[in-house]
Amino acid sequence: MARFDGRVALITGGASGIGKATAKRIAAEGGTVVIADLQEEAGAAVVADIVTDGGRAGFVRLDVTSESGWAEAVDATVSKYGRLDILVNNAGIGDNEPIEVTTTDTWNKVVAVTQTSVFLGMKAAAEALKASGNGAVVNISSMYGIVGSGVSPAYHAAKGAVRLLTKTTALGWAKEGVRVNSVHPGFIDTPILGDTDRDMLIAGTPMGRLGKPEEMAALIAFVASDDASFATGAEFVADGGVTA
Ligand code: NAD
Repeated sequence: MARFDGRVALITGGASGIGKATAKRIAAEGGTVVIADLQEEAGAAVVADIVTDGGRAGFVRLDVTSESGWAEAVDATVSKYGRLDILVNNAGIGDNEPIEVTTTDTWNKVVAVTQTSVFLGMKAAAEALKASGNGAVVNISSMYGIVGSGVSPAYHAAKGAVRLLTKTTALGWAKEGVRVNSVHPGFIDTPILGDTDRDMLIAGTPMGRLGKPEEMAALIAFVASDDASFATGAEFVADGGVTA
């Protein structure tokens, strides 16, 4: 029996990077995966890859900042697949400037997509996750939800908030059969890095390389699975040693 047999996972930002690798990993281990993303074409391509490999997957267009969009995405998942067991709040965007030049628009947008989305997602999925009897939420924060870097004020504030939003929800749901944990990646080679100088990131990483999306997917799958059945409110860091 595979680790995710009979389980249904909704993964935001599943059309790219870490979310895409996580969708493929959970599907490869027997789970049914719903990719929730703004990118319809890329999301459909991930679904097609999973189905070609013999897995089960679907796509729902979701803007994670929309409360009504969340209600529709959760309803669509439960109507189509009968349940929701795993929520991976992974969609996120960053800012990349010092606080003096960060606009209020940038702040609001980054906080909405990276922080408020996690609140909206857990709220929308609460009933279904409790009904699962064995629910798991994995909120993707960042090493920058634990330490600062000197720039990206909105991203750090949002990722730090995700860390504690995770802990308080974990305590609230500890007796409800839903575990809630956060994962804190270091520099992972995905499109979110944009044109950031890779050599600079590698030089700042004790292991001397970038992380791969598949390495994050393996950790997220572990945290979402029964292998982590006594872990809740915990933070799982995988950053090549940056915060050590
Ligand atoms: P990515 O850019 O490859 O993927 C992000 C995905 O989120 C995209 O598919 C995008 O379409 C989706 N998305 C963005 N805004 C959305 C919205 N409003 N509604 C729905 N979907 C939306 O980046 P990634 O590296 O895979 O990032 C995944 C998560 O990991 C993010 O939360 C990011 O902050 C976090 N993270 C990444 C790194 C890294 O170095 N790559 C490091 C630490 C944390």
